[in-house]
Amino acid sequence: MAEKVCGIDFEEYLEKAESFHGTAAPGMIAGAYMIDYATSLLPQGDLYDVVCESGHCLPDAVQLLTPCTVGNGWLRIVPTTRYALTIYNKYNGEGVRVFIDHEKIEKYTAARSWFYRDIPKEQQSLEDIIHDLRRAGHDLYGVQRVVVKIQHPHNENERHAESKICSGCREVFKSMGEQLCPACSGAVYYEQMKPDTA
Ligand SMILES: [Zn+2]
Repeated sequence: MAEKVCGIDFEEYLEKAESFHGTAAPGMIAGAYMIDYATSLLPQGDLYDVVCESGHCLPDAVQLLTPCTVGNGWLRIVPTTRYALTIYNKYNGEGVRVFIDHEKIEKYTAARSWFYRDIPKEQQSLEDIIHDLRRAGHDLYGVQRVVVKIQHPHNENERHAESKICSGCREVFKSMGEQLCPACSGAVYYEQMKPDTA
């Protein structure tokens, strides 16, 4: 059984995961092994970006174990709902994609029930799941060599954008020629509780 994951003692990682993420959730542990696996297949010393395909746990494992965060733009979430992540060279896009292999997880009963969520969470043993993930190490995952096609779309877009006052909400947004910000164009995620008094 692997004593270390991403160069950290396993027990110590559990503690770090708990304080950073709230709990040492199975996804944090699977995520650590996925990062460990991917980085073991990549040359050391290059600069990497990461894409997570699930917003559950995986991004926190990346943010805890690598210099890549959502805030610095080196971690992006492309939500395909697959439990996978890609670590790739930020200059040429070449990298490794790691995903949970449904055939390999069959022999790890507790990890399997966590992954498929086919048993109510209260009936699952967190201890058994962690034990499975730990003894599996890299064995639960499949890998693909990939080239990430889109480099820094966020930065690329902002470079061509102009700061403009939205004709709807009167807040400043990054415009590619539009008069209305994305929120006023329909992508608003909240309802205002009181009418504007200003
Ligand atoms: Zn607006």
